[in-house]
This record gives sequence, C-alpha cells and structure tokens, in this order.
Amino acid sequence: MQSPETVHTPQVVVMELPILPRENAMDVQESAYTVDRLHTAFSSPAGDVTLSARGGQTFFRVHSYTLKTTSGFFRTMYDLPQSNSPVDDIIYLDEGAEVLEPLLRMVCGLPLQELTNCDLIEKILFAAEKYDMPGPISILRLYAATPLLLEQPLRLFSIACRYGWEKEAKLASRQNLELDLFEPTHQDTLAQLPSKALLDLMNLRHKRREQLRQRLDNPPFVSGATANCIQCNTTVEYHTWRELKYKMILEMDRRPAGDTILDPGLNEWPEAKACWKAKCPKKDCSRLLYDKGETLRVIKQCIGELPSTV
Ligand SMILES: [Zn+2]
Repeated sequence: MQSPETVHTPQVVVMELPILPRENAMDVQESAYTVDRLHTAFSSPAGDVTLSARGGQTFFRVHSYTLKTTSGFFRTMYDLPQSNSPVDDIIYLDEGAEVLEPLLRMVCGLPLQELTNCDLIEKILFAAEKYDMPGPISILRLYAATPLLLEQPLRLFSIACRYGWEKEAKLASRQNLELDLFEPTHQDTLAQLPSKALLDLMNLRHKRREQLRQRLDNPPFVSGATANCIQCNTTVEYHTWRELKYKMILEMDRRPAGDTILDPGLNEWPEAKACWKAKCPKKDCSRLLYDKGETLRVIKQCIGELPSTV
C-alpha cells in the first residue's frame, strides 16, 4: 500500500523551468528586495507573474495572459498540469534586464526605445526565438532594413540566414560584395555562418569573378593575342590589355562589387594608364590601340549584368 507522501510526489515538480514553489515564491515576492527591483514600466499590481532577469537584479511584473498569448514557450508552460497555480510566482530567466526589457515591451505593447546595438538585437532575437515569440521576431526583422544593420552587411547576412529571412539575406549578400572577406575583422562573423550560407556567399563572389573574366575574354574586347593594326597592318601586341584584365580579376577577388574597378581602377591604375596610351608601334601610324571611353562603358555594363545576390 502506498503512503500519502508517495501519492503526492508526482504533483510537486511538473516542469523544468526554475519557478519557485508558491510557498517560497510568496516569501520572496513580499520582500522589499523584490519590490525595490521592480522595473518601473513593469510594476503594475495588476500583473500576476513576476519575471526575474538573470541574477535577480531586476524584476518585471506582467500578466500571465500576455505571456500565454505571445509566447509559445509560456503557453506550453502554463498548460502543463501543476500542483500550484503559477499566479504570484517568480520565474527566474537566464536573460539580463537589457534583453528582457525590450522583449517584454514588445509583447506588452509598450513604447520601444530605439535599439542601436547590433549585439543587443541579436541577444533579443535569440531570446525571442527561445521563448517562441513571433511578434518580437517580426519587429526585429524590420531592423534589417535600417542603416544600423545595413552598415554591417555580413552581420545582417548571418542573422538573416539564421532566422530564414530570405529577402534580407539577399539584400545583405549584395551589400557584402563591397567587403574584403579576408580582412581579419570579418573572420569571427564568418566563422559563425552556417556552412550552406558561407558557401552561397563564396559561390556568388566566384560566379561574379568568372563571369566577368569570360566577358573580358570575348568581343568586343580584344583577345590579347598578337594582331595587326587595322590602320596600317603592322603587328601589334595587346599585352597591356592582358595585364589590365589580370588586375581587374584580382580586384574582383578583393571586392566583388566591381565598383573600384571602374573608379579609381580604370582611371588610376598604372595598368590602365598603360592601356590608354598604348599605340601602334609604326611611327607614322601611332594609332591608339584602345578606346578608353568605349572600354569603360562596356566594362561598366558587364559588371552591371553580373549576378548580385545569393
Ligand atoms: Zn598602325
């Protein structure tokens, strides 16, 4: 025959979340310690549950109905059979107050202060994902199109890939073409990318370089092989064009956007200047071998036609 204690045991611990049992929680809640640390925007007595930031430094009193309707995690938690109602309990969370405050502002419909820190946005996103809160995730997604994240395209690409934001990933991949990914500053972000995302990024860069190389090897560009001057039929060498092509391809490796090829590249590079002044070697002909204006126009057109997103 079972003792009464044995019968009641399964009702005591019903979830993994660190919620204090009601009798203990009441002790904590009644203390001045807790009340003193209630966040001013989340101190309404109407709230029936208190969330604690990591370390118990700040408490947020909210209504359990809000948590249940905005978070899959809390909905599941409240649906679990419990020996004690969670009302008046304190729920201890892992996140710091700097993360919980904006997250709770979003789910509670309170004014949100501008987020100006990429690290913080990522932390809030992580928490929103953890607590299955689609509302905050959709709000934070809007930040993807703001200068804060657009100015850090590799970071944006990483975030967009993680959360499956296809449109934002494409936008970021285009912005990334202006980056030299081999610079040490990008290594940490690159290391965090899923391998598929990294591969997509590398493939885009490779495709742009190879397509441009192909275009430059075909008409209307000269082949680079020895030919005859169309004016005097003297043999002319196009080695200056070969060297300029090589320089352009190297630049595409460094900065696949190609914008620096057009300017300053084709105006300033020694390889470009050598091209623009190259002439037919026959003294009384001296025909310019390359038409700078037309070459620039067609190269610009070629770069504009390259694929620009993953
Ligand atoms: Zn000539």
